[in-house]
Amino acid sequence: MTTRLTDSPEDAAAYIRRGQTVAFPTETVYGLGADAFDPHAVQQIFAAKGRPSDNPLIVHIADRAQVDDLAASVPDAARVLMDRFFPGPLTLILPRHPDVPSVVTAGLDTVGVRMPDHPAAQRFLAACGTPVAAPSANRSGRPSPTTWQAVRDDLGGRIPCILRGGRTRAGLESTVVDCTTAPPAVLRPGAITLDALRAVVPSVQGPATGDDDDRARSPGTKHRHYAPSARVCLVDTPADAVPGAAHAYIGLEAPPERNAFGRVRVCPSVEAYAHALFHVFRASEAAGCTTIYCQRVPDTGLGEALMDRLRRAASATV
Ligand code: AMP
Ligand code: MG
Repeated sequence: MTTRLTDSPEDAAAYIRRGQTVAFPTETVYGLGADAFDPHAVQQIFAAKGRPSDNPLIVHIADRAQVDDLAASVPDAARVLMDRFFPGPLTLILPRHPDVPSVVTAGLDTVGVRMPDHPAAQRFLAACGTPVAAPSANRSGRPSPTTWQAVRDDLGGRIPCILRGGRTRAGLESTVVDCTTAPPAVLRPGAITLDALRAVVPSVQGPATGDDDDRARSPGTKHRHYAPSARVCLVDTPADAVPGAAHAYIGLEAPPERNAFGRVRVCPSVEAYAHALFHVFRASEAAGCTTIYCQRVPDTGLGEALMDRLRRAASATV
C-alpha cells in the first residue's frame, strides 16, 4: 500500500468516509483514526498498529452533540469536566451507547470520548461527519508520534493516508478520567494535571499505583509502552548518566562532560521535557544511540504524566 501525504483535512476525511484509516495531528500526539461506527474500518487500526484487541480506543469528536451518539448517559461530573476542558487534551470514560461497536471498546461497557482543540484535527473531524476512533499512530509499544515523519517511519506502507501538521503541542497523551464511578478517577495521567481537574471537580481521585485490579480498568496501562529500541535508563541526577558517544541524555539539568554524549537535551521546564520526550527517543534511536538516560522529575503537576511515561519506557534504573 502506498501512503499518501496530504495537508488538506478535507482530503484526509474522504478516506474516513470511504471506510479507511487516516493518521492526523492533535494537540497531544498524532492519532490513527477510523469511523467509530464502522467495525471493519476500526479493525484496520488494530491491524496496522499491531495493537492487542483488548486495548480500547478513544473516540474523537468535533461537536459536543456527538457525545449523545456515543454515551448511554452523561454523569454530572462529566458535564462539568466537558464544560471546562472540551475541546482539549482530556478523555472521559462514559457508559457506552449500545450502537458503539464492541471492537472500539474492546468489549467494555464504557467508551472513551475526547474533543481535540488542534485546528487541523477539528477541521478533519468536522469533515468526517462521524466520530473517529483513534489511538496513537505508532506501532504498538513504540513511543507515540509527535511529528508526521514519526508516523511515516512506523506506519508508512501500512496505512493509506497521513494528514500532515507540525510538531504536536503537548507531546504527551491525553489525561483519561473514568466518570462511570463516583468519585471520578484518573486512569492515565496526561496533559491535564490532577490539580486542574480538582479545581472543577474536587473529588477526582488520582491514578492507581500499580495495583492490578485498578489497572485492569484501563486495559492500555497494563501493556509495555512508549519504548524506543534503545535502552531507557532513569537517573536521579545528571552525574549518574554514563558519558559515551552512543549514549543520549534528556533532563532538566545538564550532565557533566556534556560533550562526551552523542546527544543531550536540557529542558528549561517540565512542560518542555514532556514536549520533547518522544521526539528525543526517536531522534536518539535514529542517531544510533544504544542507551538514553532520562533524569527523573518530581511526581507532581505535569511531572506525574511525564514520570508515568518514563517508568513505562524504562528498562533500567540507576
Ligand atoms: P492511546 O490512544 O493509544 O493513547 O490509548 C488509549 C488509552 O485510553 C489506553 O490506555 C486505553 O486503555 C484507554 N481507554 C480507552 N477507552 C477506554 C475505556 N472505555 N475504559 C478504560 N480505558 C480506556
Ligand atoms: Mg498509544
